[in-house]
Amino acid sequence: MKCDSTLYRAAPPSLAVKPRLIRHLFLPPLVIALMIGLGYIGFWVSEHYGIRNLSENGQRQLELHARAVESEISKYTYLPSLLELESSVSKLLADTSPEHRQTVNEYLEGLNRRSRSRAIYVMDTTGRVLATSNWRDVDSYLGEDLSFRAYFQNAVRGQPGRFYGIGSTSGEPGYYLAHGLEEHGKIIGVAVVKVRLEAMEERWQRARLEAFVSDENGIIILSSDPARRLKSVVPLSEQTKEKLARSLQYYWFPLNELQPLAREKLAEGEEKLTFPANSELMSEEENISYLSQTRPLSDTPWNFTLLTPLQDLRREAINQGILVAVAFALVAFLLIAWNERRKVIATRLAAREALQEANNQLERRITERTTDLRASNERLKGQIRERRQAEETLRRAQDELVQAGKLAAIGQMSTSIAHELNQPLAALRTLSGNTVRFLERGQLDVASTNLKTINELIDRMGRITASLRSFARRGDDKGQASLGKAVDAALQLLGSRVESAHLQLHRDFKDVQLQIDQTRLEQILVNLIGNALDAMQSQPQPALWLEGEAFDGKYRLRVRDNGHGIDAEARKHLFEPFFTTKPGEQGLGLGLTLSASLAAATGGHLGVEHPASGGTTFVLSLPLVSPTPAEPI
Ligand code: ADP
Repeated sequence: MKCDSTLYRAAPPSLAVKPRLIRHLFLPPLVIALMIGLGYIGFWVSEHYGIRNLSENGQRQLELHARAVESEISKYTYLPSLLELESSVSKLLADTSPEHRQTVNEYLEGLNRRSRSRAIYVMDTTGRVLATSNWRDVDSYLGEDLSFRAYFQNAVRGQPGRFYGIGSTSGEPGYYLAHGLEEHGKIIGVAVVKVRLEAMEERWQRARLEAFVSDENGIIILSSDPARRLKSVVPLSEQTKEKLARSLQYYWFPLNELQPLAREKLAEGEEKLTFPANSELMSEEENISYLSQTRPLSDTPWNFTLLTPLQDLRREAINQGILVAVAFALVAFLLIAWNERRKVIATRLAAREALQEANNQLERRITERTTDLRASNERLKGQIRERRQAEETLRRAQDELVQAGKLAAIGQMSTSIAHELNQPLAALRTLSGNTVRFLERGQLDVASTNLKTINELIDRMGRITASLRSFARRGDDKGQASLGKAVDAALQLLGSRVESAHLQLHRDFKDVQLQIDQTRLEQILVNLIGNALDAMQSQPQPALWLEGEAFDGKYRLRVRDNGHGIDAEARKHLFEPFFTTKPGEQGLGLGLTLSASLAAATGGHLGVEHPASGGTTFVLSLPLVSPTPAEPI
C-alpha cells in the first residue's frame, strides 16, 4: 500500500537551514561578548562597592590616625611657652653670662630628657642660640645663628612658630615648635622644642598602615614607607624648588615628585592613585593602586593621608567578574541545552503527531479501500454469476447449435440422399418389372441376376439411411473413433457428389483411434469434404488430399483441396456461425462452426491454412487414444 509522502515531508531546507546557520554563526560570539560584558559589569560593580566600603572604613581609620598624629604634635605645643615661666631663662636672656647659660643648659637638658623631645633650646631675639639641651654634644646648637629659620621669624614676631625641617647642624629631621618669650609685653627671646615624630612612622609600620603627612609645601615629612619621605605630592615649580633649597628646610634633598601613574578623584579628599610597577617605591611586579584619603591636621598646615591598597579589592573584583561571567556562561549553557532539548522534544512530538496522522490517514484509506474491494468483490461475484449463467446459456445454445447444425446438415443432405435413393429406387422399379416379366417368360437366370442386383441396391440404400440416422443422433462426447472408418463413412455419405465430380482422392494417413465419438468425427469430415467439393465445382481436375501425421499425443489430419480458395475478407469470419458464401438454400454457415466446436469439445482443434499454391487446407487435430500409430491405410 502506498503512503502519502507529503505527510512526512519536512520544512523546505532553505527555510530550515538558514536560521539555524545564523544561530550557529552568531550565538557563540554573542554568548562570549555577553560573558565578557557581564564579567566586566560584575567587576566594575564589585570594585565600585568595594571602594565605597573601603572608603567608609578608611574614613574611620583616617580619623583615628589623624587624631593620633594631632595629639602627638599637640603634646609639645605648650612646652616652649612653659620656659617663659622659668626664671633662669629670663635671667639668661637678660644676662648671657656663662653661669646663667650653664644653669639653663642643664635645666633644658633635664627638661628635654623628661619630655622625650629631641632638643630644647633658647635663642635671643637675633636668632643666636644661647642655651640648649644638647650643649654636651659635639654638634650642639650652642652659639649657632638660626635667625633664617621661619619658626624663629614667626616666633620673634609673637606668632606660633611651627616648622618641619632638617636640622642644618645635625642633618636630622625634626618638628620645631617655637614660642616668643615675653617679658612685660615685649619679646626678649625665643624658646624652641625640636620633636622627633619618627615614632609615629614606626607605629604605622607595625600596624601595616600606609600613611604619610605632607606639610604646607606639599612635601611628605612623615611616611610609613621611607621611600616616600621628602617627596612632593604636588607639582613644584623650579622657583619653588630653588627657594626651598635655599631655605635649607629640607637640607639638600632633591624633593622629587611622588608621581602616580593614574589619578582619579573620587570625592573631596579622596582619590584613586595608581603607581607604576617599576617605580622605585614599589617592590611588586605589577602596578599598584591605592585609595588615598586625605584630611588636614588641626592646628597645623599639614595634611594626613591614608593609603589603602586596592590589590585585594581588585583581585576580589576580578574574581567576582569571573564568577559572574562563569555563572552567565553556565546559565547560557543551561538555557541553550534546555532550548535544544525543548526543540528535540517538539520535533519528536511533531514527528509522532505526523506519524499518528499518517497512520490515521492510512487506516482511513485502508477502510475505504477495503470497502471498495468488498464492493468490487461483490460486483465480481455478480459478474461471475452472470458469466456462469451466460456460459450455461452459451453451452445450451452450442448444444442447440450442434443439433441445429446436424439438422441443417440433414436437410442439406436430404437432397443428395433423395438423389441417392431415387436412383436405386428407379433402378429397383425397372429391375423388379423386368424380373416379373423374365419370371413370366421363365428366364429364371436373368431373373435371379436381377434379384441379386436388387439386393445390392437395397443394401446400399440401407447403408445410406443408417449413416443418416447415426449423423442425426446426438452423440456422446466420450467415445472412440477410427479415422479410417470415419473417412470411409463420410465419402460414402457424399458418394454421389464424389463420383459426379470425378474427384482425384489422395489418402495419406493412418487408421488411428481418436478420442472422439465416431459419428461426430464423420460429421466433421462430411462438412470439410463437402465444402471442398463445393469449392472445386468449377475446377476441371478436382483433387482432394487427406494427409495425416501424429504429434505430441494427437493426430493431425489435413484436408486439402485445389478449389477456389478463400478471399481475405472471408478468412476473418470463417468460423463464425451462419457465415456462408454459398448462394440461396445451399449454405447455412454452420458447418465449420459446428466442426470446430466438436473438435474443441474433445480437446482437439480445427484450423485453416491457405497454401500459396492455391486451394484451402483445413487442419483437424484430435487426441489419440493410443499413441501407437496403426498401419497405414
Ligand atoms: P456452408 O457450407 O453452409 O456455407 P460452412 O461453415 O461449412 O457453411 O462454410 C462456411 C463458408 O466457408 C462457406 O460458405 C465457404 O465460403 C467457405 N468454405 C468452407 N470450406 C471451404 C473450402 N474448402 N474452400 C473454399 N471455401 C470454403
